[in-house]
Amino acid sequence: MEIFVIKRGILVMLSAAWILSACNRSSPPLPPDVEQVGDGVYLFQSSTHRSLFLVTNDGVIVTDPLNADAAADYRSAIAAVTDQPVKFVVYSHYHWDRVSGADVFTAEGAQIIAQERCAQRFRDNPNPAVVMPDITFENEYQVSLGGKSLDLFYFGPSHGDCLTVFLARPANLIQIVDLVEPPHTSFPDNPNVPYVRPHNLREFFAQVQTLTEENGVTQVLASHIKRVDNGNDEPQPSPATAPVTIIADQARFWNEIYAAVETARAEKNIGIDSFVKLKTIDLEPFESFDGYRKEDLPVIMRRFVGFYDMGR
Ligand SMILES: [Zn+2]
Repeated sequence: MEIFVIKRGILVMLSAAWILSACNRSSPPLPPDVEQVGDGVYLFQSSTHRSLFLVTNDGVIVTDPLNADAAADYRSAIAAVTDQPVKFVVYSHYHWDRVSGADVFTAEGAQIIAQERCAQRFRDNPNPAVVMPDITFENEYQVSLGGKSLDLFYFGPSHGDCLTVFLARPANLIQIVDLVEPPHTSFPDNPNVPYVRPHNLREFFAQVQTLTEENGVTQVLASHIKRVDNGNDEPQPSPATAPVTIIADQARFWNEIYAAVETARAEKNIGIDSFVKLKTIDLEPFESFDGYRKEDLPVIMRRFVGFYDMGR
């Protein structure tokens, strides 16, 4: 416990020092749709989305353009922060709500980077709004500019088949788009969880855990923005960061799903319709997750029943 408190103390001091040094710089005020979260690291906001961009003395690395309208705003927001050109656009995964509209960046010469399975998905299921990648990678790739980098890691299917984990250096901030969402661990909005890949989700989180431990990562960046009602005044925008422990907490949700389905199979508590019988589920492990809905648990678990029974 003491170690935890000391660590928190160091964290608080570090962030206070960083804010002071940031304030001392005579930079223009940020536009309302941009937040600075670390050394050269910014989040652009559009509607309910946040996208990370990294500003260096040798150009800008952009992630997830979202859509054509958002990308035009994104470009203007970057121009309010720096005169540097955008040199790279990195896609986090293949879902169109994150990766449409990169034309505004390629028009100025930016190259698109994506994991190779994302590129395959765009070939198999093309969308004219999605610009094809120029550069693909298999497991790891470092996008390096001006002494900073955005390091890309592919740990197998998780949220879709090609979700790429972002690690911004030297700020040492991690972002796991659409799967780990500050400020709280979450219960799935869509109980059918069509994006989840049960055959690799445990392995994915284990590898993310190793990555964060080996690099001493302490903070996770949001990829969404929502209004948080704190009981007084107007609902506030959700914070841009959360402690890295949110990753292990989110992994625990999925591990509890696997465990509950394994138990249900062993005890023959799964109906012919592949639904785990709700009254046999121990609800306690799930109740603390943001957005918890008891009645959705059998639907979420059905996806995992299919994995165990059919390998899908
Ligand atoms: Zn997604």
